[in-house]
Parts: sequence; C-alpha cells; structure tokens
Amino acid sequence: MSNIVAIVGRPNVGKSTLFNRLLERREAIVDSTAGVTRDRHYGKSDWNGVDFTVIDTGGYDVGTDDIFEQEIRKQVQLAVDEATSIIFMVNVEEGLTDTDQEIFELLRKSNKPVYLVVNKVDSSKEELPATEFYQLGVEKYFTLSSATGSGTGELLDQVVSDFPTTDYKDPFEGLPKITIGGRPNVGKSTLTNALLDVERNIVTDIAGTTRDSIQTLYNKFGHEFVLVDTAGMRRKSKVNEDLEFYSVMRSIRSIEYSDVVIIMVDATLGWESQDMNIFGLAQKNRKGIVILVNKWDLVEKETNTMRDFEAAIKHKIGQFNDVPILFVSALTKQRILKAVEVAMQVYEDRKKKIKTSKLNEVMLPIFEGTPPPAIKGKYIKIKYCVQLPTPSPQFVFFCNLPQYVKEPYKRFTENQLRKEFGFTGVPIEVYFRQK
Ligand code: GDP
Ligand code: GDP
Repeated sequence: MSNIVAIVGRPNVGKSTLFNRLLERREAIVDSTAGVTRDRHYGKSDWNGVDFTVIDTGGYDVGTDDIFEQEIRKQVQLAVDEATSIIFMVNVEEGLTDTDQEIFELLRKSNKPVYLVVNKVDSSKEELPATEFYQLGVEKYFTLSSATGSGTGELLDQVVSDFPTTDYKDPFEGLPKITIGGRPNVGKSTLTNALLDVERNIVTDIAGTTRDSIQTLYNKFGHEFVLVDTAGMRRKSKVNEDLEFYSVMRSIRSIEYSDVVIIMVDATLGWESQDMNIFGLAQKNRKGIVILVNKWDLVEKETNTMRDFEAAIKHKIGQFNDVPILFVSALTKQRILKAVEVAMQVYEDRKKKIKTSKLNEVMLPIFEGTPPPAIKGKYIKIKYCVQLPTPSPQFVFFCNLPQYVKEPYKRFTENQLRKEFGFTGVPIEVYFRQK
C-alpha cells in the first residue's frame, strides 16, 4: 500500500520545483521504460527506504495569481481525498496572503496531517521573515529552498515518520485485485453492476478496508477476485470529474493497490490521451493490463471494424502492445465473463515464475543464434539468466559486457520472452548485468 504525499499551494510558490526535486533521484529508474512519457504531476519517490507517491496538485493551474476560489477548492479537495499527507506550501517572498489563509482553513478541517512549508528560504536571511507564517496558528513550520533542496531532509523525515503504520491486515490477502479504470462515462459503473448481476454470489462489500478504498469480493465459475474501487470513484465525487487531471488522480490509488487494471475505452470515442495516461500509470507500476472497448453495441460493424480498431489502439499505446483487447458491452453484458477470464489469465501470467533451468534452456540457444551485435570488435556473450522473485516479471541476463547491450537487443530479448513463455498484458523488465 502506497502512501501519497500531495503538494498544495498557490501558483508560483514552488510546488513543481519541489515535486521535480523529490522525483529526481527516482526518475532514471521509474521512467526507464521506453515509450512512457513522464507524468508531470505524479511520480514515485522514497526517503530513508520508505517509498511514497507524490502528487503536484497544482499541475493544471496556469501560473497566474489570478486563481479562482473554485480552482483552489478543487485542488484542496483532491488532496484531502487522495493523500496520506499534505504539504502546504507558501512563499516567503510574497509573505502570507488571504488565499494562503483560505487554503489553510480548508486543509485544517481534514483529518490528514498537514505540513506548513515556507519555500524560497534560500539563505538564513529569509528565516526571520518566515516567522510571519506563525500567524496561521501553527506550532511548527518547515523552511525550505526547493531550488537548492535545503530543508527537504528535515521535512521528509517528519512526513515519512508520520505515515500510518501498516498493522492493517488485508482480509483478501493473496486474491487477485482488479481495478476498472477509464474516463468518466465510459461504463465503469455499468460494468461493476453487470458483474454484480452475473455474479450473484457476491460475498462482501467492506468499506474502509484500505483507507477509503472499497473492495468487493467476487466469486464465479471458480474465479475469485477482488474489485478495488476508491471511495472517490464510486461515490462520483462532486469534484470536477470532467477534468482529466482529477479523474486520473482518482485512479492512482486503486491502480497502485491492484494486480490488474482493466482499462475501459469508449468505442464511440476511441483511444484518447486520457486513456494513455491510465495505461502509462498501470505500466509504470508494472500492473497487468486488459483493454476493454466498451459500448461495442453502438458501433456499426463492417468486416474489419474490430481488427482496425485493435490495430489503431496497438499503434497508439506504443512499444508495449502485447495487451489483450476485447470488444464488450457492459450494457448488454456481451463478453463480460470473457473479460473476467482474460483478466484472471493476466493475473496468473504476472505472477508466473519460470524455472531457472527452463529459462536457460530456452533463452541461451536463442542468444547463440542471434547474439547482440559486436561493438568495436568486442563480442557479447550472455552466460545465464534468472527471473527475480518480484511481484511482476523481471529478468536478469548475465554477460561479459552489459554496457554494450543496447535498447533494440533488450526489446528483442523481451519479445523472445513473451513469445516463449506468454506474458500477454504483463509489463516485464529485462536487465543485463556483468558476470
Ligand atoms: P508552482 O507554480 O507552485 O509549481 O511553482 P514553480 O515550482 O513553478 O516555481 C515558481 C517560480 O519560483 C520558478 O521561477 C522557480 O524557479 C521559483 N522557485 C521555486 N522554488 C524556489 C526556491 O526555493 N527559491 C527561489 N528563490 N525560487 C524558487
Ligand atoms: P462511468 O462514469 O464510467 O461509471 O460510466 P457509467 O457506467 O455511469 O456509464 C455512462 C453511460 O454509458 C450510462 O448512460 C450507461 O448506461 C452507458 N453505457 C455504459 N456501458 C454501455 C454499453 O456497453 N453500451 C451502451 N450503449 N451504453 C453503455
């Protein structure tokens, strides 16, 4: 379960500067997945070995001071709904403003820990003006220079040590966790209800099991799985669902908590950037992926409609396109059970472990037949390989000159793994290491 830290504040206080700083170290690792564009508002960080997610809630403001009350409320609401902890950022250069006060009032009403952070304290001479912020009635604030990073350590020590302890026991430990993601109105609720309907023997609906997220256990035809839904998604929050940013943020926690993400696409609209965002989130978090093209009942079909639609999506999702795409109707329940079966298969494949002996037996002859291209007269020899004991498939290939193995060969290796062992819908990682 991942903790989420939200950065809230007026435009120009330095939110995105801090956001980028927190992500800096991790970025190289997280975004090594080729073809995934970096998300400007959401990313992973860690401090003292504790992982967390960072959201820059100001992602869509235009950087003017002319920010509407409405916009601020949405931002604050989002932070309060989704975050474990809230960093409330103010700016010493401008001092305390009315808007700061209003935001702080809203935050104070939440029961989440709120950290007042005075930014742009680049040197000791700004420490004194920073005391102005005691007017907000806080016991303590943190001074920071997002630009240089000074002060971040002290802040993060506190934030991380306040994370709730996870003595929580998951009642569904070990069962497949599935999230249904997609744009507003694509049919997520209809699908959820359709499943309820076909799967009469629903066992339980436990609220609050994982900090506001709801898990529903389904059991049908020997498939037992848990549908993960954040309270926010289910209750159709008043916060602007139509804004891409907000609806994507809403899916984050569910996605992180799941094994498989079902991405629903509206057949009448096609694959759009917001669908790509959800796909990117699932891929980055190495979750299994199934794409459902919903409302297929509304589409006038000709001979190649399905094939063309599938090709168009595969083209748009980029390099990792070994993903199941099904054409369904949540409304008429067409192919709904098939979708469940495919999601279960992806779940199984994601946790599949290939025996080391089998892996070597299959892969080494392939490498011998098609070795990595020699560079500067040096030959690369892959000696053996293992699958790591990670939740999603990761493989290490030991060789003499790992630095000479380039991207195209890594892709070749991944494709061979997919071809030989079957990982449809599952992001896999391939590493080359020195031996
Ligand atoms: P946001 O709108 O809150 O995301 O603010 P930005 O991160 O875009 O920063 C706004 C401006 O403040 C930029 O010009 C930054 O370079 C500058 N800035 C951010 N942090 C600091 C800091 O710690 N010290 C100083 N002097 N400038 C900063
Ligand atoms: P959500 O916002 O993603 O939860 O979407 P809803 O489940 O509320 O569906 C939005 C609208 O699309 C509703 O009017 C549904 O009846 C309709 N809808 C959902 N699935 C289908 C489908 O497969 N076919 C058709 N024709 N309409 C659908």
